[in-house]
Amino acid sequence: MSRTVYVNGQYLPEEEAKVSIFDRGFLFADGVYEVTSVLGGKLVDFAGHARRLERSLTELDMASPVDMDELLEIHRQLVEKNEIDEGLIYLQITRGAAADRDFAFPPEDTPPTIVLFTQSKPGLADSPAAKTGIKVISIEDQRWGRRDIKTVQLLYPSMGKMMAKAAGADDAWMVEDGFVTEGTSNNAYIVKNGTIITRHLGNEILHGITRAAVLRFAREAQMTVEERPFTIDEAKDADEAFITSASSFVMPVVDMDGQAIGSGAPGPVSARLREIYLDEMRKAAV
Ligand code: PMP
Repeated sequence: MSRTVYVNGQYLPEEEAKVSIFDRGFLFADGVYEVTSVLGGKLVDFAGHARRLERSLTELDMASPVDMDELLEIHRQLVEKNEIDEGLIYLQITRGAAADRDFAFPPEDTPPTIVLFTQSKPGLADSPAAKTGIKVISIEDQRWGRRDIKTVQLLYPSMGKMMAKAAGADDAWMVEDGFVTEGTSNNAYIVKNGTIITRHLGNEILHGITRAAVLRFAREAQMTVEERPFTIDEAKDADEAFITSASSFVMPVVDMDGQAIGSGAPGPVSARLREIYLDEMRKAAV
């Protein structure tokens, strides 16, 4: 069945949705995005994603074609039209199509481009990977310096996933100046002696919406959280490791560069946080 997608004010069958070849998202990766998960037909942490979207747009001096109420309505319409029970909504806004290819930004009255589509993922919350854990490798972080802005320039993260695949792993953790920044499309954590350790916020990582919620729930459950840089050696020596993202929620990591982490099976802290996160977010979903 063809999906119904949203492009610049219209709901269309996916084959009919078009954007210009001069779109700056296409030519310059001049665009931002968000991915919001859907559980039980409802949006998980929409407010968090909407806030981060506004921040990404502001940081890039980019106008939004819709206000946040309209954006919520578009998300809901797409969930309904595509009968999404569990899955993801992808949203992208670019600086629009200029008249020609030019590095300088186009005139301010150039309409931004907005595209949304759904990805149906039955069983997203009951993922088999959450029971076995995933394997990661470490790679150098070769991305640009403003990783706090959620731009669509995802070539290096894509290459990182391919490096992981070639090594028989599921994902890669990136390392800069000796410290882990984050996973290719997720935030990275280790657990040592009951303390949850994850890199502090800054321009070096994306400020994960799932990260913010998970750290809040961890603190509410009286767990100790340290927001500081950590090394790959610390990760290999940790009791547990995990990642968070809107599409994986909380996902245990059981192997780093071919070496088992802790017992080599998902640990109790990761399992508990996944459970709390899913319970609380289902309750709060809109
Ligand atoms: N870091 C990076 C580099 C990401 O691409 C993502 C997911 N888009 C995350 C972290 C996790 O962010 P969120 O929890 O908001 O999905």
